[in-house]
Amino acid sequence: MREMENRRVELFETSLRDGLQQPNLEISVPNAVGLLERMAVFGVRYAEIGFAGANRFVEDLTTALHSVNTGAMELALFGRTRGRETRVQDWPDAQFIISHKQRVPIAALVVKSRLLDVEKSLETTPEENLLMAFETIAYLQDSGLEVFVDFEHGMDAVCGRRENGIACDPASKQRSLEYFHQMVAQCVGQRVGRIVICDTTGGASPEEVAQVIGGLTRDYPGARFGFHGHTDRGLGVANSRAAILAGAVQIQGTLLGTGERCGNVNLTTVIGSMQLRGEAEFVASTSLSGLTSLANSAFAAFGLEPPHGAPIVGPGAFGTWAGMHGSSERKNPGAYLWCDPALVGANPTIGVNGQSGKANIILLSEALGVALNSTQAQAFIDANENMIEGGGFTASELSFKLASMRVLETLPHRFSVRSWRVFDESDEAGSRFVQAFMSLGIGESTIVTTRAEGAGPVDALTKAMRRELEKWYPALAKMRLGTFTVTALDVTAQDSAAHVRVTVSFFADGHEPWVTAGVNSDLNQAALMAIMDGFDYWLLKNAE
Ligand SMILES: [Zn+2]
Repeated sequence: MREMENRRVELFETSLRDGLQQPNLEISVPNAVGLLERMAVFGVRYAEIGFAGANRFVEDLTTALHSVNTGAMELALFGRTRGRETRVQDWPDAQFIISHKQRVPIAALVVKSRLLDVEKSLETTPEENLLMAFETIAYLQDSGLEVFVDFEHGMDAVCGRRENGIACDPASKQRSLEYFHQMVAQCVGQRVGRIVICDTTGGASPEEVAQVIGGLTRDYPGARFGFHGHTDRGLGVANSRAAILAGAVQIQGTLLGTGERCGNVNLTTVIGSMQLRGEAEFVASTSLSGLTSLANSAFAAFGLEPPHGAPIVGPGAFGTWAGMHGSSERKNPGAYLWCDPALVGANPTIGVNGQSGKANIILLSEALGVALNSTQAQAFIDANENMIEGGGFTASELSFKLASMRVLETLPHRFSVRSWRVFDESDEAGSRFVQAFMSLGIGESTIVTTRAEGAGPVDALTKAMRRELEKWYPALAKMRLGTFTVTALDVTAQDSAAHVRVTVSFFADGHEPWVTAGVNSDLNQAALMAIMDGFDYWLLKNAE
């Protein structure tokens, strides 16, 4: 094990390439640009932005990035070594990477490092595969790119594992190991920037990773090794930690652990868990307090609701829902926590949901600076039954704060929705017409009506509300809706009359995104509640 103090380790973030290989995960180009800017400020060293190839998203993103400052963070494109029996000069991956080298100076090149894959997937000879790697690396380097090499199936190659993780016979294992080392030696000879050992199947263990990376750093003292893990055995973070402690200088993964099958290694977990214990330094210590807000921006950019139990950055990471722990935490803060939440920019959470009771409402209102007494807390419960039962205040502390201010009568009465209706007509041919009508109260006494068409009911309601409110409160024009997630609650018991929880994130230039929630048996009403909270917050913020 290397000495622990001040082990600088580079973060190589691949949310926009490997991380996108899972169902129902998308990101828009503007959201991707915004996320990359945040990563750069935080201290991510490299960001992989896509596959080399005719891919609309990568093209649009690279174009958009030409005018964006990503500071010291360098961008990378992923590509394959040339195909067999092709000239590297004609290889499309290489052409694509070279044509973008001005803005994206790193080529992350995947090589087959396991003999089995060379013979079965590439259907070529070991010698030809070595040549394919050699020529592609040399060509990219000669074109002025820095080349990192991903050793696909590297861990399985060394450990002698074949399809489905089955152990090879001893002779194949020996051949596999020798071939792996031939490839390493060739890459070291070509002075590639990083040799990244991939646990492509997620089947490795920390002991194996420690042995492999430890051996490589000893055998090739001049080379720089990285590790790319997956979480199929639930060991991705432990494997990355083992790689770092054994001398890896780069760790690859995705901020939120998104990715194929069970996901890539979750970088927020690796960063928080190791840097807070002094085991590695990924970012400046002053950056670390931005970890929670970086994760929240990433969740918002991908339209994901943060998983309650995500280590370090999840809403429940420093939470107390049980009444007994809640009162102990109050007497002896930190008794139930492994680190000080402030170090990663989180607050100890006092949960408010169906189980937590009045005490937690009082505690949380105090913590947020909108203290309720016992009578007011009861009024809060009476007025917000659905939100409490449906976890709306777990999803959004901001909505809790606004609800407390309503009980305290400290929230200025800027607007209210007095009534609304939606006309929604669809036909067999697929045409649809949606129009929302609303009656709004403005200030204490004005009543106005408004209407708008939209792509769907929520869109029409939001447009109608904005159309009128922006006349009275121009600040609203500066904010926009980010993402929108809907969770059905208690469907088993209620069938289609179940409640739904809607969380909405909002963006405005130069501001942290903010999240609000609404719970109702009607989807449109739940969405409207969340959107009204989002508007109320922004108007409050602008009045400060
Ligand atoms: Zn991967």
